[in-house]
Amino acid sequence: MGHNQFMNQPDFTAQTSNNPLLADWLTPYGLPPFEHVRPEHFESAFEVAMAAQRGEIDAIGANPERPTFANTLAALDQCGRLYNRIELLFGNLTVSETSPELQAVQRTMAPRLAAHENAIYMHAALFARVDSLYRQRQQLALAAQDLRLLERVHLDFVRAGAQLSGAARERYGAVMEELAAQCTAFSQNVLADENTFLLELKTESDLSGLPVFLREATRAAAAQRGLGANSHAVTLSPSLAEPFLSFSARRDLRETVWRERSLRGAHEGATDNHPIAARIMALRQEQAQLLGYASYADYELVDRMAGSTAAVLQLLGQAWEPAKAKAEEGRIALTAMAESLGQPTPIEAWDWRYLAEKVRSQQFDLDNAALKPYFTLDNMIAAMFDCAQRLFGLSFVEQTGLSLYHPDVRAWEVQRADGSLIGLFLGDNFARPAKRSGAWMSIFRSQSGHQGGTLPIVINNNNFAKADPTLLSFEDVKTLFHEFGHGLHGLLSEVRHERIAGTSVLRDYVELPSQLFENWALEREVLQRHARHFQTGEVLPTALLDKLQAARRFDQAWATLQYTGPALIDMALHSLPNGTPVDIAEFEAEQCRLLGVPQDIGLRHHLSHFQHLFSGSSYAAGYYVYMWAEVLEADAYQAFSETGNAFDESTARRLLQHIYSAGNSQEPAQAFRNFRGRDPQVQAMLRKRGLLTN
Ligand SMILES: [Zn+2]
Repeated sequence: MGHNQFMNQPDFTAQTSNNPLLADWLTPYGLPPFEHVRPEHFESAFEVAMAAQRGEIDAIGANPERPTFANTLAALDQCGRLYNRIELLFGNLTVSETSPELQAVQRTMAPRLAAHENAIYMHAALFARVDSLYRQRQQLALAAQDLRLLERVHLDFVRAGAQLSGAARERYGAVMEELAAQCTAFSQNVLADENTFLLELKTESDLSGLPVFLREATRAAAAQRGLGANSHAVTLSPSLAEPFLSFSARRDLRETVWRERSLRGAHEGATDNHPIAARIMALRQEQAQLLGYASYADYELVDRMAGSTAAVLQLLGQAWEPAKAKAEEGRIALTAMAESLGQPTPIEAWDWRYLAEKVRSQQFDLDNAALKPYFTLDNMIAAMFDCAQRLFGLSFVEQTGLSLYHPDVRAWEVQRADGSLIGLFLGDNFARPAKRSGAWMSIFRSQSGHQGGTLPIVINNNNFAKADPTLLSFEDVKTLFHEFGHGLHGLLSEVRHERIAGTSVLRDYVELPSQLFENWALEREVLQRHARHFQTGEVLPTALLDKLQAARRFDQAWATLQYTGPALIDMALHSLPNGTPVDIAEFEAEQCRLLGVPQDIGLRHHLSHFQHLFSGSSYAAGYYVYMWAEVLEADAYQAFSETGNAFDESTARRLLQHIYSAGNSQEPAQAFRNFRGRDPQVQAMLRKRGLLTN
């Protein structure tokens, strides 16, 4: 991409000479030079990289030759490589290993990066060339993938306001810049609230009900927060808070943890996200208005597989009411359990997980704490690598001695069966205060096919409670496999153009490879091979395995409601007609009333900390995507079940060809059809959630 050429320009010599972000990265695999990068390097490096990319864009726009695919689309896809690598590094560090200094840079840079993106998509000469190629696309005799890129990029421009003019054009830019700033503030507030809360468990009574693994994890959390060696503490990290809600016999402490989780971003004062979310909604409505849509949801849904809010609501509705009915059965059982334990009824939201755990162990004789010793993190990493080997012929070779951004991060070379290198996989698995909660996949570099191919660098982040050894719950194992499914989507990509490579697919399709991969975590032969007791080495006993599989649909109605409620509220919020002011707390309360959200189940995410919706726009009017992709995933896994072999060779080959390696090189509905031989059917998903009886 020519950043060397740019760096020779004398104007920038002073800024660039000592800036590792701008030098060639002569590191193994071209990794970022983590040990040399400081927060203060980013601002000046971004300035240089943005100017470089604007120069490249100007050159494409000013090319005296007629627009061709090569001199316009391919050139655009390859430009901005210097900017991209800095932006990806910055994005990864701000979520995985942030600091007050980096957060300050983030606040400064968020609107400027948004302005840079605007400048590209608002570039009149560049868009004129893209648009003229788009208009003659049927006559250009382009290869299928090139045509796909042209259509995709044209849509990117249109959706980013390239066709606006005059005052609307100017206003659009301002809206996007302010949105970036507001979304940054939203995330930083959630992190601040998560880090402020710490519940110290001071007495044996405070630890009542906690199994050994949780005692260990709360001890580790206390140590990490600088409390004494024999202290225990619960943070709001899901890997601690959720098991605490499941096991703590102390109802008062469960209530405290439950309330504090719900109140993230909702405390009055500096970290109050209600006004920020309201402002984000006003800006999104204005964005939709400027682009000619009646609501923000309409704008988002045009670029999704679902296509319309009606299709989304139909799907969510198929789950919501049946799950509510089904949850009533659970409520009866849990209430009886509460009575038998002498606990008060009616039960509350902070009782549900705890009582469900008791009912589960009674009904299925399954004790989740007894399972954990079989699920060490290392064994489960080996299990997911083994599945990738059996399905796609990959092997993973750990690389030690690399300089990464935190000592807990591990790296593996990913090789095909013939030994050829296809990418680098990083795993950052533990919770820490400087890291966002949750789990996600990201990249430091995308695959693309230009110039012999670019090696992808893919990272998975989890937030497991670190211990020696780290023991996972079965939910954690599924999360591990989920993110690895995204990781494989990035690593196995074989697409020529970066814009349509790897996970750069439609938002309601991107969760297909990840959710699909979770299925292999439940396969008997996988668990029998890898789930071994960390002390004795004993294989997970068949009886426990049977119970685990028998209990897989237990309390699915609760999980469905916890998820579907926020998904419906998201759709309602983003479907408000443009120009409707929103009081966030009131809106949420009103929606809960309208939907009949059961109070003892509640919402998995409240709007004040709903990062999917407000830390950026990717999942706005898009929390539904998990269920949409689950329809695809459950049906796709049936293709393996139908062969009677979870690793069936020809099914795996089709899966690789049409889904994991294909990026967005094909229309997603067609890609699915090519894999499955037909359109997806919803029944497998409903059955999996226990919402379909036959
Ligand atoms: Zn995912």
